[in-house]
Amino acid sequence: MRFEIKRKDFGGRIGSLELGDWEIETPTIMPVVNPNLETVSIEDIRDVGADILITNSYIIYKNEKLRERVLKEGLHDFLGFDGPIMTDSGAYQLSVYGDVEVTSQEILNFQEEIGSDIGVPLDIPTSPDATRDKAEKDLAETMDRLRSIGEFDDLNVAGPVQGASYGDLRSKAANQVSEIGFDLYCIGGVVPIMESYDFEKLAQVVIPTKKNLPVNKPIHLFGAGHPMIFSFAVALGCDLFDSAAYALFAKRGKYITVRGTWDVGEMEYLPCSCPVCSNAGAEDLVDDKEKLAKHNLYVTFREINTVKESIRRGELFELVSERSRAHPSLLSGLMKALDEENWFEKFAPVSKKNAFFYCGEESLKRPELLRNLKKIDSFNLTGKRLLIVPHDFKINTDSSTQIIKIKPPFVYSEELSNTYPFGQSLIANINKEKRKKFAKRLIKKIIDKFGQNFEEIYSIGNQIELGQIKDLSPDEARKRFSI
Ligand SMILES: [Zn+2]
Repeated sequence: MRFEIKRKDFGGRIGSLELGDWEIETPTIMPVVNPNLETVSIEDIRDVGADILITNSYIIYKNEKLRERVLKEGLHDFLGFDGPIMTDSGAYQLSVYGDVEVTSQEILNFQEEIGSDIGVPLDIPTSPDATRDKAEKDLAETMDRLRSIGEFDDLNVAGPVQGASYGDLRSKAANQVSEIGFDLYCIGGVVPIMESYDFEKLAQVVIPTKKNLPVNKPIHLFGAGHPMIFSFAVALGCDLFDSAAYALFAKRGKYITVRGTWDVGEMEYLPCSCPVCSNAGAEDLVDDKEKLAKHNLYVTFREINTVKESIRRGELFELVSERSRAHPSLLSGLMKALDEENWFEKFAPVSKKNAFFYCGEESLKRPELLRNLKKIDSFNLTGKRLLIVPHDFKINTDSSTQIIKIKPPFVYSEELSNTYPFGQSLIANINKEKRKKFAKRLIKKIIDKFGQNFEEIYSIGNQIELGQIKDLSPDEARKRFSI
């Protein structure tokens, strides 16, 4: 397996994953195919845009007839899918039924025998609200199993990271799993977190995990199949998702949108132009689970493409920000994640073609702002006088005058006026006081660092109280310092 990162934005990336003769692009979604019952045909799943599938090897293993058949035909022929297939191990069944009749090594061997491309060991998924004691015990057992895995010739093996909701346990687990070394990594045990819309907790689980996994390996967020959270999860550094949601939700008459899940029986309009919705009304989907599942898949892949295009355009933050308005918990999750601004700053591109949009308070925690603060260290400010001016204030001065511009929250030296994000930023007329407060912090840093290099410092028409710095009206400043 080879993984190459082709493009990055915010915490997300577009990658190319080579699996045998196949090459797929990430982020992507692996539709879950239940070997016992098919809601949407494999051809249709392929048509909607799936390049890779996931199925459950334990369901095949425990059914003798099915097991014989898949062993004989091979997984790809059995499913009729010419593309990579990942197999799960039964850990989910373990979490639901409390017991499975197979060992981790047996189920991995079986996954290789049936020709799976990516196998998953049988780890122990711990419920997010487990006690610390339970989480530690489960994790120790999972780690023992992972350490005793043998070598495989044809099977890529995924390393699952557990640790319930304990960030430090997740960090530790991620470190230990990385030390063993796997082809890709999975973040497990998060389904209940997502089902309860606790996206703050999701950030608290995913970020410490991701921080301690190798940057150049793909990360699979197990059980995250709702398009509403793709942009957020991709921004946290996840590359692969699996969706059983498209079929499970359809079974319950649920119509998936990026803004949430709606009961199709209560809908009058279909806000979608996928091939299903273009040729049907809401009433047609009530009893047609297959059509509903197909729509759910279309909207899922459409969102993956929206995420990818947003990464390519350098607008992933804007997309996450927009999507976070679909549910207050998503916005809380985003704000929580952004507390890790130092971590996001590592991945954010330095320059962008398009503008920085300030559309909400979360923008104050964008990596660009932290970078602005850090960038001050590289300023070279010295001369006779320093003028601190609003970004649109124009004055021609002599070379002994240095100019600092304020466009709250940004503060920058005049030479940077045409660079990203300073000149290239559009700021909504909101959060004025908070933006000014941030700008003041930057100015204070500038004065502390460079103040003694100047004989005089003036603040001109800034409407920001800058303490010791003398205020001067724009007219007075032009009269005194223009040349
Ligand atoms: Zn549709």
